[in-house]
Amino acid sequence: MFIVMIGPPGVGKGTQCKRLVNQLGIPHVSTGDMLREARKSVSHGEDLLAHMDRGRLVSDEVVTELVERRLELPDCQNGCLFDGFPRTIQQAETLDKILGKHGKSVGLAIEMSGDDKLLVQRMLKRAAEEQRPDDTVETLTRRLEIYQRETVPVAKYYEERGLLCQVSGIGTPDEVSLTIRQQIRDNGGKYRENSS
Ligand code: AMP
Repeated sequence: MFIVMIGPPGVGKGTQCKRLVNQLGIPHVSTGDMLREARKSVSHGEDLLAHMDRGRLVSDEVVTELVERRLELPDCQNGCLFDGFPRTIQQAETLDKILGKHGKSVGLAIEMSGDDKLLVQRMLKRAAEEQRPDDTVETLTRRLEIYQRETVPVAKYYEERGLLCQVSGIGTPDEVSLTIRQQIRDNGGKYRENSS
């Protein structure tokens, strides 16, 4: 099953995705992680740095090319959990085309929500703990604005296709995890027997 996780920065998507991939037995495809890795390389580095450090989105072309290559690997043939992708309508449309070429499609989109104050606190804590240079107060504000403008329409895109479920990101990681797993079960996703 191909699952898309949508949510504003700081809502806890990364934490929940890491838990879910073990339980679902599908790989975690995080475009943020892939871009942080890609920007270490000489050919991509400077362009990516300029966008990511300012809290802006990297171009749809760069991101979808990375995703397309990732999806060709054998571990993604039966599904994956997309984290931070698609973030624009164009990315959502391109993803449909990429999967469609192989007779596959997105099975479920999960939208996590949280209130802005809590998101700011979480982001600042994470920036300090993980030393993420692209997470600063200025970039956070910009990222929340960009999320509203570019990514909220993506949730609507999946809602119109009957694929969206909404989950509150407020609560302990265990509580949120439980709700997400329930939503996936209700929507046809399978768990490994040893999942907790
Ligand atoms: P994340 O770790 O998902 O918060 O992503 C960190 C940064 O990587 C974002 O602020 C963007 O600059 C960039 N990024 C990650 N995913 C995407 C995407 N799907 N489209 C465009 N830019 C992205």
